[in-house]
Amino acid sequence: MPELRRDPITGRWVIIATDRAIRPTDFVRDKVQIHGSGFCPFCPGNEKRTPPEILSYRKDGSARDTPGWSLRVVPNKFPALGIEGTLNRQGEGLYDKMNGIGAHEVIIETPQHNLTLATMPARDVEDVLWAYRDRILDLEKDRRFKYILIFKNHGEAAGASLEHTHSQLIALPVVPKRVREEVDGAREHYNFKERCIFCDIIRQEKEKSARLIAENQAFVVLAPFAPRFPFEIWIIPKTHQCAFEQSQKAEFEQLAPILKDMLSRLDQVLEWPAYNYIIHTMPIGESAEDFYHWHLEIMPKLTKVAGFEWGTGFYINPTPPEESAKFLREAAAPVEAPAANK
Ligand SMILES: [Zn+2]
Ligand SMILES: [Zn+2]
Ligand SMILES: [Zn+2]
Repeated sequence: MPELRRDPITGRWVIIATDRAIRPTDFVRDKVQIHGSGFCPFCPGNEKRTPPEILSYRKDGSARDTPGWSLRVVPNKFPALGIEGTLNRQGEGLYDKMNGIGAHEVIIETPQHNLTLATMPARDVEDVLWAYRDRILDLEKDRRFKYILIFKNHGEAAGASLEHTHSQLIALPVVPKRVREEVDGAREHYNFKERCIFCDIIRQEKEKSARLIAENQAFVVLAPFAPRFPFEIWIIPKTHQCAFEQSQKAEFEQLAPILKDMLSRLDQVLEWPAYNYIIHTMPIGESAEDFYHWHLEIMPKLTKVAGFEWGTGFYINPTPPEESAKFLREAAAPVEAPAANK
């Protein structure tokens, strides 16, 4: 019997189509493979082929836009939004518009073309998190921006146009609707119960472990009760914290290995799927400290969003989260990749 489930934060309904439950390997799609053939603008030596770098981590004191970096942040060569100018908000009758102001940056996570976040050393994954934090803290000073989204497209099916592992950042002059729904839902729960809904979810999921996948000192990983996609997973800090960018060393030291671990479990269970992940942090300058709780959502690209989803905002998910959690829990703890030679 299929089941309708409601996400307690956003109120979004999903259809868990249990009768068509299939095994992870039944999802037909291309494996994400690194071919390494052809020209790559993100490889060392090709620094001049990207826009000038905004930030890089270099241990050897090498000059900017030359090799020697371990991580590099550059503007997107084909930005969705432009950084220069004013917003110039205008009304056109009942319609609203403004200039397409924003920042669009690319975080090149490693100089090594053949690695992924799942195969990089955890210490290097931690540097990726530091780069996210550094860039958010810098862009938050720009008063034109209301929200900064960190996201990753891994594999062509998930929207990556270059195979060299990278993440992206977009700073927006408005708070996006998805984030607004979460913040409003969390506020409503807080007004009613005086508790954070994410903290409540962690407490309940830790008691009933059917959807709990992993945890360490600082983070829990769970399959949400009403996931939109098969094998959707959320990584949530155990201690209440509204903003990702306020994380400290103690948190990043725990987040890096658990993120790497989850991505390699997905590789193992789903055989190198394309995926997206996003970091949801508090909108800039809003007082949501008490009730908003930052988190990272990972969505493997296994199913297609079709007419029903577009027409209703309902999602049909063929894999119950209790099943996906079980598969991911049982995946053997992956082996640490050898330290990259730099
Ligand atoms: Zn490359
Ligand atoms: Zn909380
Ligand atoms: Zn979220």
